[in-house]
Amino acid sequence: MNYKRSSALFVEAEKVIPGGVNSPVRAFKAVGGTPIFVKEAKGAYLYDEDNNRLIDYINSWGPMILGHAHEPVVSAVVEKAKKGTSFGMPTEIETKIAELAVSMVPNIDKIRFVNSGTEACMSAVRLARGFTGKDKIIKFAGCYHGHSDSFLIQAGSGAITFGTPNSPGVTEGTAKDTLLARYNDIENVTQLIEANQGEIACVILEPVAGNMGCIPPKKGFLEALRTLCDAHNILLIFDEVMTGFRLAKGGAQELFDINADIVCFGKVIGGGLPVGAFAARNEIMNHLAPLGPVYQAGTLSGNPLAMAAGLAMLSELNNDTDIFKRLAEKTAYLHKGIAKVLNDNNVVHTINRLGSMISVHFDDSEIVDFETSAKGNNDTFKKFFHGMLNEGVYIAPSAFETWFITDALTYEDLDFTIAAVNKVAKTL
Ligand SMILES: *Cc1c(COP(=O)(O)O)cnc(C)c1O
Repeated sequence: MNYKRSSALFVEAEKVIPGGVNSPVRAFKAVGGTPIFVKEAKGAYLYDEDNNRLIDYINSWGPMILGHAHEPVVSAVVEKAKKGTSFGMPTEIETKIAELAVSMVPNIDKIRFVNSGTEACMSAVRLARGFTGKDKIIKFAGCYHGHSDSFLIQAGSGAITFGTPNSPGVTEGTAKDTLLARYNDIENVTQLIEANQGEIACVILEPVAGNMGCIPPKKGFLEALRTLCDAHNILLIFDEVMTGFRLAKGGAQELFDINADIVCFGKVIGGGLPVGAFAARNEIMNHLAPLGPVYQAGTLSGNPLAMAAGLAMLSELNNDTDIFKRLAEKTAYLHKGIAKVLNDNNVVHTINRLGSMISVHFDDSEIVDFETSAKGNNDTFKKFFHGMLNEGVYIAPSAFETWFITDALTYEDLDFTIAAVNKVAKTL
């Protein structure tokens, strides 16, 4: 494949944008080479600036669950745009999408819209702190909740219970309020809570982890967290930015039949426009300004174009009774096909999957947390990534990402992908 124009565009971009990209993972640092510049996309396919066609398994990192340029979403945005793009005043469509989201998601009464998943998660944590009057939070190593300071924390050396900043610019003061736990390890969470009695406002997690590959919760893990939080007056926050409106209409809460106290959304909820949201029962949401004392705001929050895209997307998902089953079946088919050809070619691997999330790790141990996910062979992944790209299949340029299956993918696309894996496997 020829990437001449993409490469030239990247050189120009690097002169005026740090690293040539507006979000670091796009830069191909983990896999080498230079990023592909997209010209347009339709359904299951991306078309790059060199006119290559790529089957897309990233789908804007999740939002395009119905495929690119999905007609009802596009026309909703176009029609809205003709009537003005931002007012900073209330609009009816904000209530419409809020009503629909509240009807689809279990256990929430009110929802507040923001502009990104990052904003949703940082606002949820502020609300949890404001509601409980406590400062510390527990997050899990390998779970991503956006780039706000409280979440850019890594395990500290020595002291188990203390996090340290994992980016310059995050202060020690902020880091000391974030405690880091091991995903799927309830003992570890119990210890942290006991060592910090009466100080923890919330536990935040991806109910199905998707930012260290796909890691489903072990049986009983979410239930045990719920019980622990109840016993210690701690709020349980499900970051459903990835899983919301993807695993089921009501996300992981519905799938696992567990109630979180606050739920965060992003990605699918915006239909491909910049949208995030957080939601909870009245007793918690009523603490938010202007009703309550916890401040949170946004000039472009609830933007009409974004709400139009989100409403069209959620309506499609709400009206299609079969969609989540169909997505899961396609993902299972892909899983089976890839596992077979990797086995046929003696490539050591582990595939994790839940619903329409799937990831391939080049290691044969069970992948249950960040440590086991990090054991995957990155050199193999790099070769795999570039091999797949060359075959016309775009997967995330990092071994720590989930592939997202969309409704636009046909079984022919899946077969094409499996055949590409078979070819690439011979080179690993
Ligand atoms: C993508 C993601 C975020 C951050 O959302 P942005 O819109 O990129 O700010 C937060 N949490 C999870 C689970 C995500 O996957």
